[in-house]
Amino acid sequence: MIISMRLHATKQQVEQVRARIEEFGYKVHSIEGEERVVIGAVGVGDVTNCLESLEAMPQVEKAVRISAPYKFVSKEFRSARTEITVRGVTIGGDEFVVMAGPCSVEGEKQILESAEIVARHGAKILRGGAFKPRTSPYDFQGMAEEGLKLLAKARDLTGLAIVTEVMSDSDVNLVAEYADILQIGARNMQNFSLLKTLGKCGRPILLKRGMSSTVKELLMSAEYIVAHGNPDVMLCERGIRTFETVTRNTCDIGAVAALSELTHLPVILDPSHATGKRSLVPAVARAGVAVGADGLIVEMHPNPEKAWSDGAQSLTPDQFAKMMADLKPYISLWKKARAEEAVTA
Ligand code: PEP
Ligand code: MN
Repeated sequence: MIISMRLHATKQQVEQVRARIEEFGYKVHSIEGEERVVIGAVGVGDVTNCLESLEAMPQVEKAVRISAPYKFVSKEFRSARTEITVRGVTIGGDEFVVMAGPCSVEGEKQILESAEIVARHGAKILRGGAFKPRTSPYDFQGMAEEGLKLLAKARDLTGLAIVTEVMSDSDVNLVAEYADILQIGARNMQNFSLLKTLGKCGRPILLKRGMSSTVKELLMSAEYIVAHGNPDVMLCERGIRTFETVTRNTCDIGAVAALSELTHLPVILDPSHATGKRSLVPAVARAGVAVGADGLIVEMHPNPEKAWSDGAQSLTPDQFAKMMADLKPYISLWKKARAEEAVTA
């Protein structure tokens, strides 16, 4: 932190500020100019509280934070990429990983068919919600544990790992029993008691960006999980809410690039929720590869017209197959870039 004193603050006033900073556990270095004293504070402590307390002191003109408010998830803390391995698949390494499947688990036939289709075309992880966060309480809410059991069955049959959403702290243990990766949906990105519980769940997390959250807020939410004991967090850009109505959300592709600069955690792009329209999904998926995301999470349904949720943005099996084939040359370039990065590192 840098604390700038008011012009001509007295020695005694400067001393009071120094003492207050030290109470928070920081080391203090001051620079004394002709008219103004500037104080630097370094160390680890409750920065927010300290800044607020200093700003409330009349002799302080301005108190600002210099380092990022997130620590464990920052590139400064760790420059090497975090690699997360589930069932032999590594996310954040030298493979571009596709997670795919329906929005919701709807029944045995639907999820087994979906799993077989996405596996056949190169996805490594099966998605499917058993607990669904729906805007309307009258909409399908998910199959809950029954859905988790079906996901586990699909995993047994195909070897795919599974990612599925958990919405509340009380379900974390249950979902962790079945899932390989726990997804935290956009609506829960700042559910802090849930984030704290995830610190001890023993499973990697796919943390989706809140629809009105900044990149920094996303990183702070990831910091919660890591600070509570779980370093295996992937971040997911899934579009944010803007004035635009042509797409369901606005895909913040720049955020994917920014995240790769700011954090060592893997970054996944969700072109399905980002666009809301299946015709747009393949193009945005390509953009995700080109921008350097670590993978994609894509909705695919054996019969989208009959889907119980998000049918309009779910690819048909044929569209999914075509998207995966069309991504190949882009993924080759992606691999080349990763290999070059490894050489320079
Ligand atoms: C989903 O993945 O189906 C979902 C509900 O996503 P989000 O939380 O990004 O809206
Ligand atoms: Mn969905």
